[in-house]
Amino acid sequence: RTVYVNGDYLPEDQATVSIFDRGFLMADGVYEVVSVLDGKLLDFEGHLVRLKRSLKELAMDNPLSDEDFLAAFRALVDKNAITDGLVYLQVTRGNPGDRDFAYPAAGTRPTVVMFTQSKPGLADAPAAKTGWRVISIEDQRWARRDIKTVQLLYPSMAKMEAKARGADDAWMVEDGMVTEGTSNNAYIVKGGKIVTRALSNDILHGITRAAVLRFAAEAQMQVEERSFTIAEAQGADEAFITSASAFVMPVVEIDGAAVGTGQVGPVATRLREIYLEESRKAAV
Ligand code: PMP
Repeated sequence: RTVYVNGDYLPEDQATVSIFDRGFLMADGVYEVVSVLDGKLLDFEGHLVRLKRSLKELAMDNPLSDEDFLAAFRALVDKNAITDGLVYLQVTRGNPGDRDFAYPAAGTRPTVVMFTQSKPGLADAPAAKTGWRVISIEDQRWARRDIKTVQLLYPSMAKMEAKARGADDAWMVEDGMVTEGTSNNAYIVKGGKIVTRALSNDILHGITRAAVLRFAAEAQMQVEERSFTIAEAQGADEAFITSASAFVMPVVEIDGAAVGTGQVGPVATRLREIYLEESRKAAV
């Protein structure tokens, strides 16, 4: 693989970053994941807007112009001959000096890393036909989940707990209400109405979420942005998640209880089709 580090395109085994980089020492960094279908980037603009917001919230310099980000993404897709897959982008605060809690001096160059992951057939994941099984777990992450930081240990622990219990993912719960999945936004469908938690600092503002809610409204589907419990989700007609890499993925079981019929439902199926069709059309 050819990867990107601070302006250079290098073979992955020659790409290096300082051990003093604050991304490594303190998880002081942010990231984005953009899907590639047919060699084109999905929702690129939305991901770039969110990246810039994450950087701003952490008072980190924006290292590249929008044009340079797009050019680098395209170059990596090209150099690695990616038809279907992902581009991962990470910006950390860098650090030329020693370990210190205080940020380095203004003007310190952030570290920018990008790489691709080839995923042939990404849009035809067999799981979309059978659905995911999820477990619930207490949400023990920090309180700024709206910032897409590389501080992913708790979601990793939750994913491992899900795997240990034979499930595909975990839905995190805070004060009795579902926040989101380990790396996706959570939804239920009841009586034709799509319900998903409202945006706040409690969840990541999913780019796929924004697109799916827009498409749902355009298709005259009812949407309600409010919190829900695991019990309500278990009693719903359907459940699903959204993310840049899973698109719209049905959820058919929560903590061992079937959701609705226990089969993939029509609303999730339709939203997945619309999302894939519309975002392919708008891909760059
Ligand atoms: N929530 C969390 C915690 C995530 O990590 C992700 C994926 N990055 C999402 C939601 C979905 O966001 P997006 O649709 O932008 O991929």
